[in-house]
Amino acid sequence: MTEFINRNLLSFPLKTITSSLSPAGKNARLSISIYHRVQEEDDELLGISANATSFDLHIKYLAEYFNVLPLHEAVQRLQNGTLPSRAACITFDDGYADNAEIALPILQKYGVSATFFVATGFINGGIMWNDVVIEWMRRVPVDSLDLIEMDLGKYETNTLSQRREALCSLINTLKYLPFEIRKQKIDQLCSLIPVSLPDNLMMTSEQIMKLHRAGMGIGGHTTNHPILARLTNEAVYSEIAENKETLEHIINSPVRLFAYPNGKPNQDYLPDHLEIIKSLGFDAACTTAKGAAKKGCDVYQLPRFTPWANDYLKFMLHMSRNMIRNVDVV
Ligand SMILES: [Zn+2]
Repeated sequence: MTEFINRNLLSFPLKTITSSLSPAGKNARLSISIYHRVQEEDDELLGISANATSFDLHIKYLAEYFNVLPLHEAVQRLQNGTLPSRAACITFDDGYADNAEIALPILQKYGVSATFFVATGFINGGIMWNDVVIEWMRRVPVDSLDLIEMDLGKYETNTLSQRREALCSLINTLKYLPFEIRKQKIDQLCSLIPVSLPDNLMMTSEQIMKLHRAGMGIGGHTTNHPILARLTNEAVYSEIAENKETLEHIINSPVRLFAYPNGKPNQDYLPDHLEIIKSLGFDAACTTAKGAAKKGCDVYQLPRFTPWANDYLKFMLHMSRNMIRNVDVV
């Protein structure tokens, strides 16, 4: 009922407010939303509600109250000053299989386009390092974990919230370790208590092709999803170039959009990397800096954010607040 009242009474004034914050033409704002997994049900261990129902609601709100454009078209129109009012794009990072199986039918139901940034080192049966830790933590049949010898701490894992805390701490510790050391520690975890890990979390080449055939955009996201700021420029070049080549081979079309892994300016990628992206023929790149893009902004550092809210009023307020945020880029 509250949802009904919100949408009927507040629809017009909120649409007017968002139109004034994001008008058509040279003063337009481009809101780019970012998603990762879209699962059928809530993931209790992760403690987030990125499920099909809430995703369906978001796309419904975006389709009804915003002008959703394919990212490549939106970038061109942003540069030309010809964006419509309340312009929005939808993007996904990493290349999860549920994007093709759960998110795609929802996008099609509302007739909107999205761009999928795929890390190709994990497609066709691979698994990202963070998912190894998540799926390992989900399955280890123990009430406590002593990982002190591995410099990874000691945890109670009896309840779901204890497991969630342990997981959060492990991911945060492992995230910024050098690639080889992180891999070594994760291998150690898996041999300490072996569990069977899923091999169907990430997309197959066929699922990437399915998205491409459905008119969705496919973008680069490196091969191994490293923190680019921790690599030499030569390694950054290889990560991005090989990923682009693999995706272009799969879809038999040029790949011209990119998203930086993790995506925080100055922390996850550096100013030098913008030149590498340009030299490889990309037309634009997305970060995870919050905010909305405006004419004259650097299209190789487009801001994005996730408007997680399960009612119309909160969703529109999140979107509006994001439009007036200052964008922090390198
Ligand atoms: Zn990513």
